[in-house]
Amino acid sequence: MRRLRNVKIVATLGPASSSYEMIRALHEAGADVFRLNMSHGSHAEIAERHAIIRQVEKDLDSTIGILADLQGPKLRVGVFANGEEELVEGAAFRLDLTDQEGSVDRVTLPHPEIFAALEPGAHLLVNDGKIRLKVEACGTDFADCTVITGGTISNRKGVNVPDVVLPLAALSDKDRGDLEFVAELGVDWLALSFVQRAQDVIEARELCKGRAAILSKIEKPAGVKAFEEILEVSDGIMVARGDLGVELPVQNVPPIQKRLIRRCRAAAKPVIVATQMLESMIESPMPTRAEVSDVATAIYEGSDAIMLSAESAAGEYPIEAVTTMNNVAIEVESDPTYTEIIEASRTAKRATVADGIVAAAREIAETTDIKAICCFTSSGTTALLTARERPRVPIIAMTNSVKTARRLALTWGTKCVITGELERFKQAVVNAARAARSGGYAEPTDQILVTAGVPFNTPGTTNILRVAPCDERLIYNTDPE
Ligand code: PGA
Ligand code: MN
Repeated sequence: MRRLRNVKIVATLGPASSSYEMIRALHEAGADVFRLNMSHGSHAEIAERHAIIRQVEKDLDSTIGILADLQGPKLRVGVFANGEEELVEGAAFRLDLTDQEGSVDRVTLPHPEIFAALEPGAHLLVNDGKIRLKVEACGTDFADCTVITGGTISNRKGVNVPDVVLPLAALSDKDRGDLEFVAELGVDWLALSFVQRAQDVIEARELCKGRAAILSKIEKPAGVKAFEEILEVSDGIMVARGDLGVELPVQNVPPIQKRLIRRCRAAAKPVIVATQMLESMIESPMPTRAEVSDVATAIYEGSDAIMLSAESAAGEYPIEAVTTMNNVAIEVESDPTYTEIIEASRTAKRATVADGIVAAAREIAETTDIKAICCFTSSGTTALLTARERPRVPIIAMTNSVKTARRLALTWGTKCVITGELERFKQAVVNAARAARSGGYAEPTDQILVTAGVPFNTPGTTNILRVAPCDERLIYNTDPE
């Protein structure tokens, strides 16, 4: 699908978006990557959505990324005899390990490791942070709390423990089963929830065995604190503002978002801004002005991708939500202030030949009338480095790997073309010129830039930068082998 914007759109699938027609319409409206949320939906449903996405991809001759999002160690209370209870401020409330149904005085928290890590003074947040409890006393199987902020507590509500680095395994048994299932199914990205340390990512990577790229969701204070180490071992990042805004004061989220986006760009790793971007569109065909502004801000900040959660998974207006994001993106990216901001926030990194070549390509494209930067990449690295430069012209990633193309669906500005096996550089230039022309990015009289590593298929060998004509006869007449 031809896109008129650089930022990518991720749409979560769910009950509102599981048919072939809807998934196809969402892709046509602008969704570049689909997110399968493993917290909801059976394996059969996930497999069905996965198959539909691949069918749409085939029918439209497009490239679509699939991101499977593991639930992670999400803590939940047990059930209540009455289904729910009203907790009032100042009351005492106990969490314990007994398997009796809950009351207004207590409920089960079936996670022994939490009791071992809790200390008096720690806060527990229940139901998206709406209820706040303070631990007064605790032991190996209980925590006596005072209700600081009251509210309704009901069956299996989520619990956040922001103050403590939890001694939780990065992946629950459910996560391990889900990971194996989606990796075998063939997803492009695997998102890890509640990442607390680099080791969590390393563990998942060992299980994943290269079948998918790994994206770490930053949604806990521990994850924010260990961010640099986490980034180092991850292939991408999600600013997961939902849980982040529960675990930290909400006003801390925007500066974290800004910093994470900048750090990811410097590291040439894609970053997604997620949650509540167009929340009101779950029920309304029109977003609020504040939501439009939030989407625009993430784009001005240089995010690779913006995400829809319930808006596309369970809302009434999934297509309108994608269309809104698409329209906002087109408008923002045509604003000269956007270009100014993006170019002023470039971090010069010139450590390798590839770094130098991508920077030179961007500079040449800025200096003269070049229509596109076509980069030959098997692992995707050269495309990621090119995207880090945020050039003003389209980036066409030419790759022989469908897997690489699908992963790059998350990366800013990158359009992918699958090539056959290449041996000669001249043949590569011809392919690039054809791709630029057939994609509608260039005319035969135009010029493009081609970057490649020769010999082909040897990762890490980017060593050619060629200004090439788009006319094949000229390429044949002028190019060396
Ligand atoms: P979730 O993650 O939707 O899986 O909770 C995103 C977030 O917390 O923002
Ligand atoms: Mn979350």
